[in-house]
Formats: sequence, structure tokens, C-alpha cells
Amino acid sequence: MRQRIAVVGGGPAGLTFARALHRHGHPVTVLERDPAPDARPPGGTLDLQEGLGQLALDKAGLLAEFRALSRPEGQAMRILDPDGTVLRDWRPRPDDRANPEIDRGQLRDLLLGPLDVQWGRGVTRVAPGARGDGALVHFEDGRQETFDLVVGADGAWSRTRPAVSSVTPHYTGVTSVETSLDDVDTRHPDLARLTGDGSMAVYGVNRALVAQRSSGGHVKVYAQFRAPLDWHANLDLTDAEAVRSSLLALFDGWAAPVLDLLRHGTAFIHRPLYVLPVSHTWTHVSGVTLLGDAAHLMPPLGAGANLAMLEGAELAESLATGPGDPDETVRAFEEQMWARAGRWAKMTTAGLERLVSPDPAEALALFDQVQPS
Ligand SMILES: Cc1cc2nc3c(=O)[nH]c(=O)nc-3n(C[C@H](O)[C@H](O)[C@H](O)COP(=O)(O)OP(=O)(O)OC[C@H]3O[C@@H](n4cnc5c(N)ncnc54)[C@H](O)[C@@H]3O)c2cc1C
Repeated sequence: MRQRIAVVGGGPAGLTFARALHRHGHPVTVLERDPAPDARPPGGTLDLQEGLGQLALDKAGLLAEFRALSRPEGQAMRILDPDGTVLRDWRPRPDDRANPEIDRGQLRDLLLGPLDVQWGRGVTRVAPGARGDGALVHFEDGRQETFDLVVGADGAWSRTRPAVSSVTPHYTGVTSVETSLDDVDTRHPDLARLTGDGSMAVYGVNRALVAQRSSGGHVKVYAQFRAPLDWHANLDLTDAEAVRSSLLALFDGWAAPVLDLLRHGTAFIHRPLYVLPVSHTWTHVSGVTLLGDAAHLMPPLGAGANLAMLEGAELAESLATGPGDPDETVRAFEEQMWARAGRWAKMTTAGLERLVSPDPAEALALFDQVQPS
């Protein structure tokens, strides 16, 4: 294969794609809008599943390094009633490696390795060639560059997507507000115990509070609730104290130790949950394809990064080792991606309905269905 390949986006999808191609000795240009790897806080923790994210890392030659970095104990999951009663307290066996957690920042650094990413290269538009001869990438600084294949791994609000599909994400009706606690074991030992080694979730009527431990005593807290998109019309989202008060009012009546997660949280980040339609597909366009959230944004229930990474690894492997026409390889890859992502989008969409629902018993029933006994 002698193609000039570019991937737009250096998230889990783009970096896994690039790293797997690199392993096969094929050059790839990684175009990332962020000016540097540490330009933004990397976010919380990701659980990588055995047959998905971990398989992708294996294909990229990085599984042993992942195992050394990841936290199997982070698979622990506790569920509480809003009154503070512990309803479930599941802990993994010491040898359980089905879904270990890794900090997003650690995963990004692992994937980056020797890759030569072009930072600060925001893409505005991708235009497929008129005769199936590659695609033209337009950059924020006004420059343009042609590649034989452009892979859009640029997330929910992809600038590559319009080259193949006119579909845009829509609001699920569920909003998430994220906050963080640092150094919990020393500064908030009660909240450290409440969260445990992994995740802790509390489900009430149309709302949920989830706390997840990352490494270094960092905990991310997600307050999730059903609300219209403009729920914050009378609220200044940049005023942390105002957002805290508004969340405390929304979760009024919940047990004090649970609400302490909000009382001690630092900055608040507003994240309304958007999705693409379940089973989003498009008519194949020569020279351009999509991976990860750009192709199939779905509710954040533990699948998005896993799928994104596996797709990246599989496309790279097929391009590097497959016989024949790269365009046919991409076409076959898309069919496979659509089928698998469609199944996950259906499951996670149904999952979100049950986790943030008028009947909190639904959330517990879902947990009992998916959690090993
Ligand atoms: C709170 C939360 C928790 C989650 N937990 C999990 C979990 O435990 N397990 C799991 O599997 N999934 C999880 N997900 C989902 C997961 O984060 C996403 O599915 C995953 O990050 C998608 O990866 P991606 O590479 O496709 O896109 P992204 O991670 O969005 O990466 C896109 C990259 O493209 C860059 N970019 C964007 N636009 C441009 C542009 N125009 N030009 C150049 N670069 C651009 C961005 O800067 C970014 O680096 C969670 C999501 C959320 C919100």
C-alpha cells in the first residue's frame, strides 16, 4: 500500500488507527486541533473491555503496557439508594481483567508513543475529489492539503462528517454536569470510602449521581438528569457556586454524604448528552471515511472509546495487510463498523433510558443484567 493517509483527530480512535498503521510501517499524518497534548484536562477514566479496547491495543502492540498501567480494582461498582442505603457492592476478583480502568491521559500518552502528531492543525472541511481521487483537507489557517484517504476521527462535532453524511447529533433529553475532587484519600476520606476503588452510582427519579475514581486520588462526579436543553436559562454556567446551588436543589432530599460529592466538587462542566441516530450509515464516498464518535456518537455507557479504538485498529490492519484496492477495503470496513456500532448504539440508548428514568428500579435491574455475579 502506497497511499497518503491522514487522520483528523488525535482522540482514542485517531491515535489507535495511527499507532496500528505505524506498527505496520505505514506513514500516517495525524491532524489534531488542540495546540498540544496537554492543552486541555484529559478527562476521567475509561474502562477498556477485553474484546474491544483491549483487542485494539493488542493489534497496536500495546496490550502489555496497558496491563501494567491499568487498574483492575477500578472495575468495582457500588449502587446506593438516594437515602444512602447500599443496594449493590460488586468487587472484581484479583485476577479479573475483563474491564480494567485507565486514566484518559495515560491512554493518550500510551497511544502517542513515537507518533509525530501535527498539533494545532484544526480542520474546517474535507472535500472528496470529483473523480474518486482522494480528498482535499481545508485547515483553520486557510491552507489546504490533498490525501489519498482522509479518516475522520474528530468526534461528536466532526468537520469531516459532512463529506459523507448530512446527519448531525441530537439531544437525548439527558444532561450531565461534571465536577471533580482531588486528593480524596487525604482531603475527603469519607467520600473516598463512599466511592470505593471504582465507581459509585445513585439512581433517583429522572436523575443519577455517579462518582468514578481515577488514579492519584482524583474522582470525577457526574450529576445526570432529564431536562430541556435550556434548563440553565436563568443560571450563569460560569458561576460555580450558582451551579452547585442549582444542583443541590435538584438533588434535594438525597443523603448528605452523597450530596457532599457536589458540595466539595471544584469546577462544574456542563455536558448535555447528544447522540447520532442509531444505525447511522452513509453511501460510501471514495477517499473519506469516519471512525468513532464521528461515525456513531452514542450515550456514554462504556462503549464509545472501546468501539472507536477497535475500529481504528481494524481499519489500519486491513489497509496495511489486506490485498487489493484500498477503496474496497474501506467499503468493507464501513459495513462491519456499521453493523457492530448499530448494535451498541441500540443497547446504550436503551441503557440511558433505564439509568435516568422515572423508575429507579430499572437502573438496578439493568445493573443486575450486565454485572457478573
Ligand atoms: C463522561 C464520559 C465518560 C465516558 N466513559 C467511557 C468509558 O468508560 N468507556 C468508553 O468506551 N467510552 C466512554 N465514553 C465515550 C468516549 O469518551 C468516546 O466515545 C470516545 O472519546 C470517542 O473517541 P473519538 O476518538 O472517536 O473522539 P474524541 O475522543 O472526541 O476525539 C476527537 C479528537 O479530534 C479532535 N478534533 C475535533 N475536531 C477537530 C478538527 N476540526 N480538526 C482537528 N482535530 C479535531 C479533538 O480535539 C479530539 O482530540 C465516555 C464519554 C463521556 C462523555
